[in-house]
Amino acid sequence: MKSMFRSRLFRQQFLVLAVLTVFIFAFMVAGIYFRTKSAIETRETGLAGFYRDAVMLALQDWLAERESDIAWMASILESDAERAGTPLAPDAHDRFKALLEAKDSFSDALLLDLEGNVVFGRSGPPARKVSLADRDYFQAAREGRAFVSGVFRNRLTGRYAFAVSRPLRYRGEIRGVLAGTVLLADLVRIVESMGLGSLGSVYITDPERRLVAASSEADFRSPADTAEEGPVLDNLAVREAVARREGVAKYRGESGRTVIGAYGWCPRLNLGMVVELRSDQAYLPITRLLEFFAQFAAGLLVLQLVLAYALSARLIRPIRALAEAAGTLEEREYPEVQAPRTNTELDNLVDTFNRMAKAVRDREGLLKESAARDSLTGLYNHAKIEEFLDFEIRRSRRDDRPVCFVMMDIDHFKSVNDTFGHQAGDTVLKETAGLILRSGRDGDIVGRYGGEEFAVILNARSSGEAAAYCERIRKAVEDTAFVHEGVEIRVTISLGYSCALPSALGPFELIRAADKALYAAKQAGRNRVVAAAL
Ligand code: GH3
Ligand code: MG
Ligand code: MG
Repeated sequence: MKSMFRSRLFRQQFLVLAVLTVFIFAFMVAGIYFRTKSAIETRETGLAGFYRDAVMLALQDWLAERESDIAWMASILESDAERAGTPLAPDAHDRFKALLEAKDSFSDALLLDLEGNVVFGRSGPPARKVSLADRDYFQAAREGRAFVSGVFRNRLTGRYAFAVSRPLRYRGEIRGVLAGTVLLADLVRIVESMGLGSLGSVYITDPERRLVAASSEADFRSPADTAEEGPVLDNLAVREAVARREGVAKYRGESGRTVIGAYGWCPRLNLGMVVELRSDQAYLPITRLLEFFAQFAAGLLVLQLVLAYALSARLIRPIRALAEAAGTLEEREYPEVQAPRTNTELDNLVDTFNRMAKAVRDREGLLKESAARDSLTGLYNHAKIEEFLDFEIRRSRRDDRPVCFVMMDIDHFKSVNDTFGHQAGDTVLKETAGLILRSGRDGDIVGRYGGEEFAVILNARSSGEAAAYCERIRKAVEDTAFVHEGVEIRVTISLGYSCALPSALGPFELIRAADKALYAAKQAGRNRVVAAAL
């Protein structure tokens, strides 16, 4: 495994695949991201504005309902009075209580006389005189207008509330004022019910940017129920809303996250409203898609690593085996490459290499062989005979066996050439060589020592055996009629031999002794065998 990582083939394959993958994915991701992002922002802007308008409408609806509630209460009290024939029916308080119970829109309600004094509330007439003549809702209704006040904090409870009022008439004349207090907490429930879930939040502030109500997903808690003062908000949308402007903007929200906020102003309640969408939530679909892409790319990279490994492993092993085998060619070893089959062109290469190695091996064997042989007769040449003799003497030294060396020379060979021609001489030489080979036995080493001289390292155990061998050859040559182009040629041969224990004589001395014996045979008249005198 480790050696595979060192392989350049593997590294290159993997690198190319990895770079390609990263490039393709980066390209795709960038494309998707930039194209989708602006589309999402446009959609978010529209969505935020739409939500702001929807919440605003819901608020106005709700407000209209409170107004019609107070009108409904007033009309019942008015018709009771008409029927009783007095500005205020005797059971007016009981009726008032029953109506309040039937409509739980109001946290409290009051009936005021024309001077602004409380006639009764939910629990009856006040213990002492209470005047609300200075209140805007009284003054407006006193003048005959149906009125909705802005948000105020109740002096006793500290809770945010607003008042809805309208005049009470008797026989066409204003005789009193009916006012109901609505808790902002009720409005908050509407805002909350219009929450956007994890997408974003809705919140409302007073003209001083103080938080009045917020949906439960907002970054701050809605203060309306707790009677605490809400925090003063200071973001772009709130500032714009209290400046009575309407719009959509992208800015950093209270939590530090980037948001898209739609803001607006509700003039009847004197409240600013902001619908905020979290952009990280808005981008969630692309973020998820990109995450998926990243994981997919990572998976693909791992797959490519495995693939590159498998592919390289297939290619690298045979290549390494080839390289190793080629290296040993220099040391004149010709091993067969044992490489795993890849079913690719590499298989051919391995086979070709093996065929080539075998051819080189065979040819080298042939070269060695022909370098050791005499071309005319096919016998070992002079150098090889001496090499063999050297080897034979060393081998025989171990078991102290005698070595016999025979030298022979065709008699008057020159005249064969002169009489019959050189080619006839060659024929005689070749056939004499064959004759010598046939006359010997396995283990004899026969060579052409010179022109018409032959030498034999004899596989003989004694001088007697050598003498018999030489005599056999002499006789055979003498009895043979060599034929060249139909012409019969007869020759004789002289032989000298020497047999000695290798401990007694070295190769050089053994050859010289045989040569001397051959010379003696020539001197003695040729066509004879002479043993070396040792
Ligand atoms: P001797 O009985 O004293 O050995 O006489 P010889 O004529 O055989 O002796 P010499 O050494 O004078 O002559 C050897 C001749 O063998 C000379 C040469 O022309 C001939 N000869 C040597 N090699 C070859 C060969 O390859 N082919 C042929 N045809 N003749 C060869
Ligand atoms: Mg000679
Ligand atoms: Mg001769």
